[in-house]
Order: sequence, then C-alpha cells, then structure tokens
Amino acid sequence: MADKAGEGAVAVTSGLDWQYAPAPESRDVVAIAPRYGLFVNGEFTQAASGRTFPTINPATEEELTVVAQAGPADVDRAVAAARTAFEQVWGPMPGSERAKYLYRIARIIQERSREFAVLESIDNGKPIKETRDVDIPLAAAHFFYYAGWADKLSYAGFGPDPRPLGVAGQVIPWNFPLLMAAWKLAPALATGNTCVLKPAETTPLTALLLAEVCQQADLPPGVVNVLTGAGGTGAALVAHPGVDKVAFTGSTEVGIAITEKIAGSAKKLTLELGGKAANVVFDDAPIDQAVEGIVNGIFFNQGQVCCAGSRLLVQESVAEQVVDRLRRRLATLRVGDPLDKNTDLGAINSRRQLEKITELTAAGEAEGAERWSPPCELPSRGYWFAPTVFTGVSQAHRIAREEIFGPVLSVLTFRTPQEAVAKANNTPYGLSAGIWTEKGSRILWMAQRLRAGVVWANTFNVFDPASPFGGYKESGFGREGGRHGLAAYLDA
Ligand code: NAD
Repeated sequence: MADKAGEGAVAVTSGLDWQYAPAPESRDVVAIAPRYGLFVNGEFTQAASGRTFPTINPATEEELTVVAQAGPADVDRAVAAARTAFEQVWGPMPGSERAKYLYRIARIIQERSREFAVLESIDNGKPIKETRDVDIPLAAAHFFYYAGWADKLSYAGFGPDPRPLGVAGQVIPWNFPLLMAAWKLAPALATGNTCVLKPAETTPLTALLLAEVCQQADLPPGVVNVLTGAGGTGAALVAHPGVDKVAFTGSTEVGIAITEKIAGSAKKLTLELGGKAANVVFDDAPIDQAVEGIVNGIFFNQGQVCCAGSRLLVQESVAEQVVDRLRRRLATLRVGDPLDKNTDLGAINSRRQLEKITELTAAGEAEGAERWSPPCELPSRGYWFAPTVFTGVSQAHRIAREEIFGPVLSVLTFRTPQEAVAKANNTPYGLSAGIWTEKGSRILWMAQRLRAGVVWANTFNVFDPASPFGGYKESGFGREGGRHGLAAYLDA
C-alpha cells in the first residue's frame, strides 16, 4: 500500500546525512474525468460556446483534463439560478436549516479529505503534507465554523435581524484553491446569500469536486454555482448587474480593475490582495524557533502565500547567526514530487508564475543583493524553483518592495525597535507581520505599531476560522473569517 510506503523509510547513511526513501501518496483515490462542465443550478453542464481549456499538473506538465470555459451566457445562467435560489429557497430558509447543509458539506469534505488532498496537490503542485494537514482540514473547519453562526446571526452584533445581500460573485486565486473557496462560500451561505464562484484557471479541479459535494449534500439547486474560466469569466461575473456582492482574492492589479469597474454600482465589495510581510527577529528571540518560523513563513506553499513572511528583518547583532542557521536548515529541505509525503517544497503553480519569480530574482542580483540557494536537484520537467535567500538587501530593491509570490526571502537588518517598525511599515501592502522576541511587552508595543491586518508573535502562518484575516492599504479591505467575516455578506 502506498500509504505505508513511508514507514521505516528514513535511513541514516552517514553521520548526520539523512536520506529519505520515496513515500508517495497513491493517486488511485482520485478519478479525474476526461472532461469537466460548469456547475449551474445543481447540474454539470457544458459552456454555451462549447469552449474548454486544459488544466495541467505543474509538477510534470502533464495535461490532467479539460474544463469548460464559461462565457457571458453562462454567467447569465448561473446568476439567474443563484437569484431564483436566493429568492425562493435559501433566503427565506431559517438559519437552523441552512446550518444543516453547511455541517453536511463540512462532514463530506472530511470524509473525502484524502481525495481532496491528492487532487489539490496534483492540480496545484503543493506538497501533499500541506494539502492533507492544512488546506483540506481548514476548509472543513470553515464550513463547521460558519454553520455554527447560521442560526445565531441576531446575536452577532449586526442588529436584531441582519439580512443577506443576495447573489455573491466570488473570484478566487490558485494558491489555496479549496481553502479560498471555503473562505468565500461558508460565510456567504451561512448568512443566507447564494453564490457564483469562479476558481482560478490553473486550479479548477477541487472547486468542481466541491460542487459534487454540494450535490451529495442535497444543497438546493442554484445555491452554489461554479463557473470555470480565466480572467474574462471573472470580469463578466463581477460586472454582472444581477450580482449584489463581489468578493475577490488575487493580485492588486486585478483588485484595482474590479474596484474601478463596479464603482458607482450598489455592489458591496471585499478585496484580499497581495502582501510583503515583515518577519521581525529581535536579538532575544529563541533563534532555532525563529528559524523554523522564518522557514514556515516564506517556504510554506512555495512562498505563494499572500501573507508570506517574504521580508526578514533581523536585529543586526544576531543577523549573522540567524542567516547561518537558516542556511543550514534550508539545506535539509526536500524539494520535489508533491505527492511524496516527505516533500517540503513542491512545484510552482504555473509557467507564468515561475517566469515572474525568475524575473524578480534576476532583478535582485542585478541590483546588488547577494543570492544563495542550498544545493538541490530540481526535476527536469515541470515548474520548479529552488529555495532562495537574498542578503545585503536594501529597502529600495525591487525584491524588498514587490510581491514575488515564490520561495524567495529578502533579508534586511535593523538596530532598534523603532527602525524595525519603520522598515516593516515601509511597504505599499499591509496584510501580515511576524515578531520574534521573548518579551511580551515588546510584542504588544510592536503589534500596536505595525500596519498589518494580522500580526503573529513567535509563530507564523497560523490560521483559524474564528480569527479575522484581511489587510490595510494595497492588501485590500474587508475581513474574512470570524464574526467579522459575516459583515461582508450582511446588509448591516
Ligand atoms: P490574478 O489576480 O490575475 O487572478 C486571481 C483570480 O482573478 C483568478 O481567478 C483570475 O482568473 C481572476 N481574474 C483575472 N483577471 C480578472 C479580471 N479582470 N476580473 C475578474 N477576475 C479576474 O492573479 P494571478 O495572475 O493568478 O497572479 C498574479 C499575482 O497576483 C501573483 O504573482 C501574486 O503576486 C498575486 N496573487 C495574490 C494572491 C493572494 O492570495 N492575495 C493570490 C494569487 C496571486
């Protein structure tokens, strides 16, 4: 059994030189169909135009299947189905009844978690240990959490009888495909809205599996619709006059385009955009723990995380020590097959993203920063990028200012807490930040001054459905998660 392949697979070859035998998760648990339709009004249908596009496995460049490409006629159909479901079924339904469906969806995600995890790894390129232990459990947790709110909205602090907005048009990115779908759908459904969801073009498959779960849960037709397609489909959806609420996660450029497009309409908007988080390490921090946090902060999901700790700000007196230990730790990271249970870093999601990372890292070198990667052999096919650290980075460098969205860390130094705050806030973004110190008072002092929606202390990239998440400045506005996440979907 592939499941057991990892047992006893670790062998010591010499001294501290560890070798890991392959421990592949089985692909057999997933049956990928040769063709996928749109999910509209409770059924899978082809696009009106008959057009399709392929989705590939970024680790191998193998074409996995073809998926329907929704056009304006399909957007019309999906929005109309969502409107009817909102007016006739879901809007009038008591919250306690809506909750039952959300609980059911959550439980089915748990039951089918292995299938979801393998499919996500294949379509996205991220390691199975992340999809298995983070993406899928958190997606289920979001449905559980918001199911609990569905019959308690009168007590959520939005007045005695908060009303849903209507039809939500939701556009999501490729970095956490199922999890972002859950972040969008769960609060919208709990509050009585119906949804048209547009997954990213490079990762449509788990959203379509979730559509199947909605069928399995007997969710009334039209409550959730899934339209696959690229930017054009997303643009048609957010502009559709039948959409009352737009929720977008993705790049700042597209977020700005959407804001301009719907300005002047009555649509409510939330945006979760990019980030360039500072991970600040003080000289009194437990260094080994901080190094683990730095690694998790920037190499989790190949750094393709909006809240990634991509700027390491380290106090000058310990900078050399931290960078030394970080390099030693990076030499132990395993890059390769996303389905191998020992893999730490999988593939970059697309050729386009790989090109962007390559271009920005070349700019880092050209601007004078010092580049370092551990020795690591990358597979010959697929989209791969070695974990990379830049030292000698100045605040003016592009790699310190622009979101790279890849496994690339820029290291800067500071001397005083005031300088750390000034440097951390010197960014157009404001999504997240990390602080590493043993002093509680310093954590509070820093957290009050950092302009970031989430500030982690002595940890990084920790998520919980009960905790709101969102940004300042060019990282967007509105909060997802927690009680705050309900506000985005209520007429409150
Ligand atoms: P993107 O913003 O282009 O795509 C995100 C989603 O928006 C996808 O579903 C896409 O199809 C859709 N979309 C594209 N154009 C649209 C439009 N005009 N109207 C409506 N929807 C549209 O992001 P990308 O091109 O996949 O990635 C580019 C960069 O964005 C990345 O390098 C990264 O810096 C950033 N990014 C951030 C996040 C995040 O979580 N904040 C996620 C993905 C990408």
